[in-house]
Amino acid sequence: MKILVVEDERKAAAYLRKGLVENGFVVDVAADGEDGLHLARTEAYDLLIMDVLLPGRDGWSVLAELRAAGRQTPVLFLTARDAVQDRVKGLELGADDYLVKPYAFSELLARVRSILRRGPARHAECLRVAELEIDHVRHRATRAGARLELTPKEFALLSLLARRPGEVLSRTVIAEQVWDMNFDSGTNVVDVHVRRLRSKVDDPFEKKLIHTVRGVGYVLEERP
Ligand code: CA
Repeated sequence: MKILVVEDERKAAAYLRKGLVENGFVVDVAADGEDGLHLARTEAYDLLIMDVLLPGRDGWSVLAELRAAGRQTPVLFLTARDAVQDRVKGLELGADDYLVKPYAFSELLARVRSILRRGPARHAECLRVAELEIDHVRHRATRAGARLELTPKEFALLSLLARRPGEVLSRTVIAEQVWDMNFDSGTNVVDVHVRRLRSKVDDPFEKKLIHTVRGVGYVLEERP
């Protein structure tokens, strides 16, 4: 398994490379976005581990270019701060996962293995669940071929649910990931948006995809 690390901080890059090599990976390192993009486009990597803040071309731009070029290589972003906006932006661009610095190497390794286990098929420039199709490049969602007119928040919410099909997401998790807020029971923003999303995704169709799990949260899945 071959991994490209795109990281401008030398020490951090060396630490990552050492740890990954010790765990049996083949590792290349690029110190800026331009080099990273060039390598990612010309070599075959199983995974990119990329810092968001890079000199010149940032990590988002590298990812966008890569996806535009049709490269589906999974990307794990390293972000300096736990900003939900950043996570949503990366998610919408088709990143696979995030890790906030500073992180424990053992956690990084677990994420890396999890992404590699999923394989390229699950990778998502374009996500498909049942008849749903979510295109993160064009920022478009369709069900059974019909375009869904979604607000940016609804799109982010649908994307979050569709990335983890069959997994019940709590209101707390949804509020954090989509709204950058701590959920408190006084607000029903999540429920309101789920209701609006359902009116577009599920109401026109017989088969419902978004389900409420009472007392827990919401799940997107196809049920028989
Ligand atoms: Ca950096």
